[in-house]
Amino acid sequence: MTRIKAIITDASRGGVSTKTIDANREDYKVLLSPIYTGICGTDRGIVSGSLKFAYNPHGSDYLILGHESVCEVRDSNVAGFKKGDLVVPLVRRPGDCVNCRIGRSDNCSDGNKHEAGITGMHGFMQELFTDDPEYLVKVEDRSLREIAVLTEPLKNVMKGFEVFQKVSSRYIFSGSDSTYLEKNALIIGTGCEAFLYTMMANEFGFNSMMTNRHPLSQNMLADLNDLNLSFVDYSQNPDKPFSSGIDLLIDTSGDPATVFNFIRKVNYNGVVLLFGTNGRAPPGSFDGVDIDYLIERNITIAATVDAAKIHYLQAIGYLSKWHYKYGNKLDRVITGKFSPDDNSLFERKQKDELKSVIQWND
Ligand code: NAP
Repeated sequence: MTRIKAIITDASRGGVSTKTIDANREDYKVLLSPIYTGICGTDRGIVSGSLKFAYNPHGSDYLILGHESVCEVRDSNVAGFKKGDLVVPLVRRPGDCVNCRIGRSDNCSDGNKHEAGITGMHGFMQELFTDDPEYLVKVEDRSLREIAVLTEPLKNVMKGFEVFQKVSSRYIFSGSDSTYLEKNALIIGTGCEAFLYTMMANEFGFNSMMTNRHPLSQNMLADLNDLNLSFVDYSQNPDKPFSSGIDLLIDTSGDPATVFNFIRKVNYNGVVLLFGTNGRAPPGSFDGVDIDYLIERNITIAATVDAAKIHYLQAIGYLSKWHYKYGNKLDRVITGKFSPDDNSLFERKQKDELKSVIQWND
């Protein structure tokens, strides 16, 4: 048995603590240590006890948290991985449905998959853990060490755009010049996922904008500006987000009233991607006129969840490209680094937080 530090919760009740636990780390294919683990709304939801779908691994009275990470290989007994490699472990682990069996547990057909740090499988917020090579994605570009923890949130965005491309392929979505240059993408929310969705919408050529119900700090606006990202406070400018309508609406807020409000501005053949989740959001109203609006305009509403290994690879490719293009400006997306012993991070979002991370070694 090895004594390791881990950040644990009881998924059935919530709470969080950093504990030293006994763990078997003698028999493994790949032995890993996290460099950084990211924290997101899901971790905070589990800790607050409000995410009812989270559960401890079978036979365990606790769950080790953490699904966003970049790790270093400490030792390997398999070909293809060696000490010192940078890797990102996959979050979802397949069940035995048809989609899980073809490497698409993100499209799991029966819910019998597991998710590290969330549903029935210990996560990556632990000093030392083991994994199998098929669940590891290598980060060959070592200059990404400080930002590769964004691979996990960005892989969700890659999947989101895959969903967009699939549903919009039932007609011609692009303009008559074959591009999206005349198309408007509105992204609701200004957190890390909204930020990455807006970066990607720009990559696709959309005229894109992030929106929230309040202003952003001058610091945050300056950071957005450096990365060519636009923002509008819709409480002050209700008509500003695209007077010519919205072609792609992406929601990261999970707030029904806000989503329904903007759906009423979506153009013919528009696509709405539902991504954000917030079980505690108040209800929003949606009536028969809205249904007529959607049908008459041939609008698609699609939900998107998680991603497959291919999306992790795509995410690493874009992080490399953006790191080359924006240099250290991209590093500012990591807005805070914390010790594994500082559990206050789980209680509330930090001021101007895009991505807070736990640093596991100095
Ligand atoms: P986050 O930082 O909490 O982002 C949520 C954003 O929505 C925040 O900027 C929040 O603003 C904003 N917001 C809340 N209510 C709003 C409203 N009425 N109008 C406009 N903006 C509003 O979380 P994240 O890490 O970026 O993740 C975004 C969401 O995606 C979360 O709900 C998360 O659980 C979910 N998620 C989904 C998947 C998936 O596979 N579908 C995967 C990962 C995460 P304030 O902070 O100012 O309130």
